[in-house]
Amino acid sequence: MSFLTLDNVSHYYFTTTGYTKALDEINLSIKEGEFVSIIGPSGCGKSTILSIIARLMKQTEGEIKLRNESIINSSLNIGYMLQQDYLFPWKTVMNNILLGPKISENITDETKRLARKLLEDVNLSHTENVYPSELSGGMRQRIALVRTLITDPEILLFDEPFSALDYVTKLKLENLVAKLMKTYNKTAILVTHDLGEAISMSDRIFLMEGSPGRIAKTFNVPEELRNEAPFFVRRHPKYQPIFDEIWEQLSDDMSDETERKV
Ligand code: ADP
Ligand code: MG
Repeated sequence: MSFLTLDNVSHYYFTTTGYTKALDEINLSIKEGEFVSIIGPSGCGKSTILSIIARLMKQTEGEIKLRNESIINSSLNIGYMLQQDYLFPWKTVMNNILLGPKISENITDETKRLARKLLEDVNLSHTENVYPSELSGGMRQRIALVRTLITDPEILLFDEPFSALDYVTKLKLENLVAKLMKTYNKTAILVTHDLGEAISMSDRIFLMEGSPGRIAKTFNVPEELRNEAPFFVRRHPKYQPIFDEIWEQLSDDMSDETERKV
């Protein structure tokens, strides 16, 4: 059964001078435990899709369903992780992590145990009492991930969470996130402009085109790549063929710019 379904979802942004059609009849369906990516040019509506799923705003048309029921009245717990970590600088790492449980008045010994376990999972046990300003960008994103996971979300939305990090840190974080999503059997949607990242982390990839945003094509990542850690996917013999196949679609509009010689 489908876990999350977008059914003919269209979205318009209205401004004082007119409107932008950001999404045009998006249809997609995600299974429980699946990891999917959305890729496409800047401005094609990727973040709009995540904001609508997160219920930060309502789509103009169409419906979103969770296990075949409208999402509007559901109590779906969503985790949302962005490029910026939004940690509070005046709170320690532990207090940043316990923010969600604190708001829902749910800090128990069990929550604290889970916080420590998750910190261990991301190799940051030693940072419990330090402040975010003492940590690197990659460490802060790992803390943001723990803060997201502690609320036990049923679905995780990642909006370019690695794009501000240096390459090595980014690769390490891809591995870590992929592993945690499998360990805790989470459903996840990743928005990225990095095709390699999408292939190495996902089961399926939705390629979007812009103005207005549509799903141009869906790609299944080969079975052999799905259970490999992202770092090793990039070296797998099946990686390059799927990269080339998607790249061909991506670069359709810019064929003049992809000549072999510079
Ligand atoms: P992406 O994440 O793929 O870069 P977005 O979802 O942010 O794309 O934006 C899709 C389109 O909607 C773009 O044309 C963008 O300019 C427009 N848009 C996004 N947010 C707003 C907003 N708050 N008001 C008006 N237009 C917006
Ligand atoms: Mg965006």
